[in-house]
Amino acid sequence: MHEMTRVRELIRLLRQRKISGKVRIVLGHLEATQIMLEEVRECFDIAVKGTDLEGSEIIFVPQPIKMRCNDCGAVFDVSLNDFSYKCSRCGKSDCQLLEDDELSIITVDIL
Ligand SMILES: [Zn+2]
Repeated sequence: MHEMTRVRELIRLLRQRKISGKVRIVLGHLEATQIMLEEVRECFDIAVKGTDLEGSEIIFVPQPIKMRCNDCGAVFDVSLNDFSYKCSRCGKSDCQLLEDDELSIITVDIL
């Protein structure tokens, strides 16, 4: 997905929460994300220019990648240093990624 599309979705979510004015948005992203975070920030600045959200800040916070074991159902964090796709409980490798690579709003503070 293009970064501007993500930004539009983000702004839609802010409006849905009736958020307006200058805010600080804490956004979670997966550690291994392919999202260009600086590009998201630039797109956001462009998208909110001239609106009440102009001057808002975005802070990116890396989130651990989670997997679910298809065998025993355990959900566990996957470390980038140990990307073995093995269940931490039963050791089977029949696991799948739990989250996609979307950005998620953690908190929004009015500035
Ligand atoms: Zn398991």
